[in-house]
Amino acid sequence: MNFTAAQDFTSLTELLRRYADADEILYKSHCEWEEPVIAELCRNVRRSAQHIRAQWGERTPAALAEAYGIAVVHDRWQVADGKVIYLAECTQRPAQIRLNLTAIDALANLMPHWAEEQMRCWFTSDCLADVAIAHELYHLLERRPVTQREELAAHAFARALTALPFSPLLYQVLLQRLAKGERTIS
Ligand SMILES: [Zn+2]
Repeated sequence: MNFTAAQDFTSLTELLRRYADADEILYKSHCEWEEPVIAELCRNVRRSAQHIRAQWGERTPAALAEAYGIAVVHDRWQVADGKVIYLAECTQRPAQIRLNLTAIDALANLMPHWAEEQMRCWFTSDCLADVAIAHELYHLLERRPVTQREELAAHAFARALTALPFSPLLYQVLLQRLAKGERTIS
């Protein structure tokens, strides 16, 4: 994974705008399901996030994981060229979330050159870790095989739980583009 600092960052504003759309709108371009199917997925996921908030209050995703007996491990790993990079991964046995600080720090270190001041709080290592933990928490609580549906559901859940003002899919898009060293992110 070779991150290059020399990027054309001008299109971040456009990406932020696109990924700030409601998941119901955004997911229409990420899957081929009918609108009612997407709407139901988003509704169910938001309800799950609300239930967790109602039960546990305003805890961080890491504290929520702990409450569910899930260990959060800070780790670092490189990803071979062409492979998808994730901010974290999880296992059911042992119940564990592994954060990839290589990916988290690489993205966080680049963003100050890139994002406008008022948006930078959403690209710090802590924020990226929170969102990544929330995403993996969904997989661990739902215990379903990771399909495209579950991936989109986990992103919607993480967005709802952390009140991120855009879809976490944006992080994935940025990671992939930066890893490939592309000159533009449009
Ligand atoms: Zn996932």
